[in-house]
Formats: sequence, C-alpha cells, structure tokens
Amino acid sequence: MLQFDLDSALKEIKRRKAKNVALQVPEGLKARLPEIIATIEDNADAKAFAFVQPCFGACDVKDMEAKALGADMLLHFGHSQFVEGHAIETIYVPVECKADGKAISLLAGRLAAELKKKGSKRIALCATIQFKKHLAMLEQELNGKGFEAFVGKGKGVERGQVVGCNYSSVKGVEGKVEAVAFVGDGLFHPLGLGFAVKRPVFVLDPVQKEVKEILQQRDLFLRKRIAMIEKVKQAKSIGIWVSTKRGQQRMPLAERLRKGFERQGKKVFVFVSDFVKPDYVAGVDVEAIVCTDCPRIAFDDSSLFKQPIVNQVEAMIALGEKKLGEYAFDELA
Ligand code: SF4
Repeated sequence: MLQFDLDSALKEIKRRKAKNVALQVPEGLKARLPEIIATIEDNADAKAFAFVQPCFGACDVKDMEAKALGADMLLHFGHSQFVEGHAIETIYVPVECKADGKAISLLAGRLAAELKKKGSKRIALCATIQFKKHLAMLEQELNGKGFEAFVGKGKGVERGQVVGCNYSSVKGVEGKVEAVAFVGDGLFHPLGLGFAVKRPVFVLDPVQKEVKEILQQRDLFLRKRIAMIEKVKQAKSIGIWVSTKRGQQRMPLAERLRKGFERQGKKVFVFVSDFVKPDYVAGVDVEAIVCTDCPRIAFDDSSLFKQPIVNQVEAMIALGEKKLGEYAFDELA
C-alpha cells in the first residue's frame, strides 16, 4: 500500500500562492490522480493538471515543460531530487510503502540466520526511497540482535537510499562491512549493488517476505550482457540513443562513443527522443543500439528491439575503454 502526505503539499501550494499546479506521479499512483487533483482544487485556490506519460525517476522531472504549459508549481511524487535548479517551484512529495513491522522482524530473523552461516557481523543496509521506514526498522532489529548495521549517506541521495544509477550510500561504507542487505522489491537494484560492491548482497522483500542472496542471478545476468556486448562489437552500424529527459541527457558522452565506434570503422547515427521506443527507428537500418539514457532500458526493454541493445558502460566495454571486471550499472548520471 503506497502512502503519501498530500496535506504538506497543500500547505506548500497555499504558502507559495500557486495557481496552476502540474503533477507527476509514478505508475503505481496513477489510479489516484483524480483524487489528488480534486483534493488540490477543492482545498487550494489552484487548478491542477497531470503529466501521464510514465515517470520512473526524478531524472525525468518535467519542470520546464510544466512552465511552458503555464504552471507555477510542480509536484513530483515518489522520487527524491535528482537534478539541480528548477524552472518553477518544484516539490518532491515522498511516497512510501506502508511499513509492516511483523514482516521486518521476520526478515531480520532470516537475514540474521544467513549472516551467522557466513560468520558475518557487520552489514550495510540500503533501500529504495519507498522502503525508507522499513530500513529504519531493520537497522534497529539487527542492532538488537547483536549485529552492527551501517546505513551510509551517499551523494545526492538520502541516508541509505539507492537508485538504479547511484549506489554511493553503500559504496561509502563498503570497507566497514562484510555483507550488504537491500530492502525492496525487484532485482534491478540488488543486481546493480552486486556489481557496485564486492560483498555478498541479500535482498529482503517485505512484500514476498523473502530473503535471498543474488549471486546466481548476478552471474546469469552478466553472461547475458556479455553476449549482447559481443553482438555490438560485431555490428557494422550503430544507433546511439540520447534522451531529452533532464537527468538523462548525455550528448557529450554520445559524441565520445560515436568517435570511438567510428574509429572502429562502424557507421554511427545519433537518435534523440524523450522515451526510447523501437518503433521510432523501425525504418532505420542499424545493426545495434547504444542507449545512453537510463541504464535500465537496455536490460528491461531488450526483448522489444530487433537489434542488440547495450547501455553506455557496456558500450565502453565493447570499445575496449573499460574492462569486463569494471562492469557496473551506469553511475554516470
Ligand atoms: S536514470 Fe534510470 S536508474 Fe537513474 S534515477 Fe533515472 S530512472 Fe532511476
């Protein structure tokens, strides 16, 4: 169950006398858009409109577009600030999963058993922003069981927070710990952690109430990515995709990659769009795609493309600029 505090956002709207409020919400909150808009319009002297294209991170903040549409404030739900400087007043509204104390106790007990098997005492804890409260509970539980839990403060993120392209909160305390525990769902973030740090990574899923180590998935994932990188090396023509999203624009990097691939005798084309969709280049004959946008796209959307698709770190490996041992989810954002 997702929770957010609309009262605080309303106070900000009134305090700043905003009259036209733009909204960005994650997919999980879309169904509640009518309720959010009605609450704002009924309780403040303001109108509201919502951007409805998917928004997966605060790298995709639409302050400039909102301003162009006449908004004087943007409410961005579910992500913490990622880019500096905004075209209009921008408020980041936290969205959290309701913390389930019983589930965390259960998970802490299971994790403790796993750590004992490995003889590990000191552990780094992290979570996505939605599981912030669970993280605080887990820290208490583990310390109460005689472990030493470390929750690091990273660069541009909250204490213990990780995002797909930023694991700095864990990397900062890596030297003090023997293992890492991630609280959240899905495999994307823990896999990224598995490459960012050289410690065993455990996933604590409060929804499935499971604790698992990701070593096997990490190795399988890497094997698939190596195969993809090899295909890009063989390609004679490459499309390099650049995003127009504020936190994902990397034209200088695309230019650098273009020169590298051209030196290898490949034909290179640069494509620009907000979203990355195979349809956009359906008629363009390129044998491989390098996506400089969010690093997740090359993994999650690869089945949608007829060509092999890699992200920028993988492109650097294909070019010989990085070694396979340096494989990491993109941390250039
Ligand atoms: S670039 Fe991707 S991984 Fe990074 S914050 Fe944006 S959506 Fe998340």
